Amino acid sequence: MKAELKKIANLTYSKRRKAIKNWFKSLDEEIKKELEKALEDSPHWKTSLTLKKLIDLYVGYKKFGNYVSENLYKGFELLEKNKSHDRFKIPLQKGITIYTLSLAPHKVSTYNTCPHAGICKAICLGDNGRNGNRQMFKRIKRTLLFLKNRNLFLAKLIEEILYTIKIAKDKRKDKRLDLDVVFRLNNFSDILWENIKFRPVDIFNLEDRYTDLVQFEVLRNLFEGNLDFYRRGGYKYKNETLANKLKEAYKVENTNSFPKLNMEEKISIFELFPDIWFYDYTKHPNRENIPPNYHLTFSYDKGNAKKEKNYKDNIPKDKNLAVIVSETLKNDLIKNSDWKDKVIDGDENDCRILDDDKKLILLSYRKGDLDREYLAKYLKKSENKINPEEEIALTPDEFKKFSKEIRFIN
Ligand code: SF4
Repeated sequence: MKAELKKIANLTYSKRRKAIKNWFKSLDEEIKKELEKALEDSPHWKTSLTLKKLIDLYVGYKKFGNYVSENLYKGFELLEKNKSHDRFKIPLQKGITIYTLSLAPHKVSTYNTCPHAGICKAICLGDNGRNGNRQMFKRIKRTLLFLKNRNLFLAKLIEEILYTIKIAKDKRKDKRLDLDVVFRLNNFSDILWENIKFRPVDIFNLEDRYTDLVQFEVLRNLFEGNLDFYRRGGYKYKNETLANKLKEAYKVENTNSFPKLNMEEKISIFELFPDIWFYDYTKHPNRENIPPNYHLTFSYDKGNAKKEKNYKDNIPKDKNLAVIVSETLKNDLIKNSDWKDKVIDGDENDCRILDDDKKLILLSYRKGDLDREYLAKYLKKSENKINPEEEIALTPDEFKKFSKEIRFIN
């Protein structure tokens, strides 16, 4: 296998694709099928030598069945601190650090993490190759861990959330920096996190096998209410806007109350951290029983709107809406006296929790992120006959029509 890969690596880019295709033929039938399925929807990764790593992963999880190899998951984090991208800078200035969980988008890992993705996949930031193979490899690893060993994944996630809360609190105490932390778990996915439930006792039972991956002592203390830095709501937001929103969401003055955990009872991550905010965009039309500390913005998809019969009727009525428009239209609307109080520039600031209700979040179409091959396939048109911006972003005329249909704007 090694010699074969080395040979492929030395080929020119154009020949590599064909060589990889031929190499597939020599692989185990089942692995081959899964890989082809995974790569079908992700042309950016087809010619990449990340394939070698991908194959290691698939071989790994086939071999270990439901137990993912421990070694496969050493040395990488689930959460990432976002500060470099422009859209995270404004929250930072306000003292809010956003931690994101990036899984592999859509069908890249063979498991579809965005079942309601439509035309958006053509400009998906998580799959445009911009962040390099290493990033995508990490996303695939996280997704496989989520799929194959849910309890270990959750143990790692809880531990990392605790760690970030502790850092924020320590920094505040030392007056080094005022910090609040918020979490976006679907950075490049659309998982129904409110339905991902676990029994704390099951996480305890992982201990023997995975002690070098997760500090179970810390988790045990959290579950038993003995953590100094997170004593059942001992953590408080410095940022007033977030604290007030949280109080409003809970309809209580003091959010420092927290029931004693029942180790046998299934809970979601939101119930474990009731004083912490989480937020996401979603394309799922029917998400129910959303916890008060989980903020969702519905993401309108022009492709789905065309393909699905009752799309507009299914747009949730209780959430802000995000839409893609051209940069020009976005700037016009932001300046327009009729619109400026109804819209928010979503490119400027990612922290959707800070948004007021009944707003339209404008995201601009970005040419550089385009996956033309996917778009052509999705539209069933030939590549040279498409105008991507017109297909993906709302045109001024379409926006007029769309805005009439949005109940909270009228
Ligand atoms: S739903 Fe989001 S993450 Fe999934 S494919 Fe669309 S843009 Fe990418």
